[in-house]
Amino acid sequence: MFTAFLIKYAEIGIKGKNRHLFEEALAQQIKYALKRCEGEFKVTRTQGRIYVDALSEFDYEETVAELKTVFGISGICPVVYAEDEGFEKLAKRVVSYMDEVYPDKNITFKVQARRARKNYPMNSMEINSELGGAILDAFPEIKVDVHNPDVLLNVEIREKIYIYSIEIPGPGGMPVGSNGKAMLLLSGGIDSPVAGYMVAKRGVKIDAVYFHAPPYTSDRAKQKVVDLARLVSRYTGPIYLHVINFTDIQLYIYEKCPHDELTIIMRRYMMKIAEKIAKDTECLGLITGESIGQVASQTIQSLAVTNEVCTLPVFRPLIGFDKMEIVDISEKINTYETSILPYEDCCTIFVAKHPVTKPNLNVIKRHEKNLEEKIDELVQTALDTDEVIVVNWEK
Ligand code: ATP
Ligand code: MG
Repeated sequence: MFTAFLIKYAEIGIKGKNRHLFEEALAQQIKYALKRCEGEFKVTRTQGRIYVDALSEFDYEETVAELKTVFGISGICPVVYAEDEGFEKLAKRVVSYMDEVYPDKNITFKVQARRARKNYPMNSMEINSELGGAILDAFPEIKVDVHNPDVLLNVEIREKIYIYSIEIPGPGGMPVGSNGKAMLLLSGGIDSPVAGYMVAKRGVKIDAVYFHAPPYTSDRAKQKVVDLARLVSRYTGPIYLHVINFTDIQLYIYEKCPHDELTIIMRRYMMKIAEKIAKDTECLGLITGESIGQVASQTIQSLAVTNEVCTLPVFRPLIGFDKMEIVDISEKINTYETSILPYEDCCTIFVAKHPVTKPNLNVIKRHEKNLEEKIDELVQTALDTDEVIVVNWEK
């Protein structure tokens, strides 16, 4: 029965001139999400609102599900249109709307009319009371409650007349593309896909980098990361996933540095390489799935030592989250099942029995001197052989 959706957005973010950019980005993301749905749609922006009109048959459930993935949307209101063919017809249409949408009439309601077109022959107060009266006449059980109604029935008089009363919550946040771009360090674990989702929710476009160490990590482990990127791209739009061959760097560190410092030194090189790619691709920050104290390389001391190689800001949206809280989000965004597949990631292969938990920057730097001979060349080769996979959500 619904033929359109009114899209509500709450947070304009930075106001003023940016409002226009925000709305443009939101309309863009809505179009991207709708491309995945059956049917044809038109997205219009008018007077601080966005409408999605169905131009053909469409699948209501599917369309709502896709709209729920668009950051920036606070509410999705399914709308019924009525032509302006006089008040009698409108009253009939409104009564039949109530009948269809609320089979159980043991409810309270209130009509809220708005005239976007002032030449309509009745004012809002008159429309409210006349339509309210028509509904009361039609359904004896129904009651009016002007303060706290179960159903707030909106009737907007525009070129056509818009009727709606349902608001389905959207994901909130800000539209992707309204707040620049950042580079996500994406592993096959639970945390980093969630970290990418959370930063994207604030309007940031996402690229990703994965450090692959064949043959120590398998093709399946790489495929798992591609699959995770695809799941995340449902919310973020297309992701450019950089796959960096990290094997020689890892082996070289393994050969030249104390094994209890292996992870931390490796993490420093990951950050360095990620930052290099980020700067080459107009990313304004890095994103990781780190959380304080979760593992040895995520103590505050370790984070400080890792952070030291970067000049770009490093966003760690999960920094204060417990594992269970992260798992909850990963289930909600549907990455959990894929994240827990058992394929090894490149950190787990070389882990020391007793990794340092309080690394000292000077000591680490001293040991990194052992790498001087070949490391620059190895990093350069890794960058030169960057494999870029464009990942896009499909069902
Ligand atoms: P995750 O669940 O995201 O894998 P984790 O708990 O396993 O995190 P670590 O392995 O210490 O933690 O990694 C910390 C962060 O470093 C990850 O969240 C991710 O952002 C990044 N990272 C780790 N390994 C890789 C990798 N192979 N490629 C890209 N990024 C990685
Ligand atoms: Mg991991």
